Amino acid sequence: MAKLNIVKVGDSALRKVCRPVTAITPRTLRLLDDMVDTMRRADGVGLAAPQVGILRRIVVIEVEPGEVLELINPEIVEASGEQIGTEGCLSVPGKQGIVKRPSYVRVKAIDRNGVEREYEGTDLLARCFCHELDHLDGKLYIDKATKILYPDAEGYYEYDEDED
Ligand code: ZN
Repeated sequence: MAKLNIVKVGDSALRKVCRPVTAITPRTLRLLDDMVDTMRRADGVGLAAPQVGILRRIVVIEVEPGEVLELINPEIVEASGEQIGTEGCLSVPGKQGIVKRPSYVRVKAIDRNGVEREYEGTDLLARCFCHELDHLDGKLYIDKATKILYPDAEGYYEYDEDED
């Protein structure tokens, strides 16, 4: 596996609508492996292909350590509820934002074997599905954040989850 370069806000790759994957090739599988490796090394819980400069509809997520979700051509098929919380992005270093998201999301996607599967997410996983799928349409959380937070001298962000 190889660590890929994560592009940062300002790079045009982050603003493009990605194309669907039409065939799962050895190259697709290698990309999935490399994306998981890159996400882990960056301490992220999700990574979308445009973040490594690949304009294809591919996302990897690891909210629960060891439970990697590899989503090819993912689509949200159901969303409900609401949650307000902090969000960050490997492509937007040094910031967090407060973003409203659904509290429940159901996603349909193809896995690496070409099998269509469905995934349900609540709380952080629901937030992560929404954040990563937004990347595939050129959207960043900073477009939706009601407030942007910057770390203080100790590296802490001011937002207190209990304020909700
Ligand atoms: Zn992101």
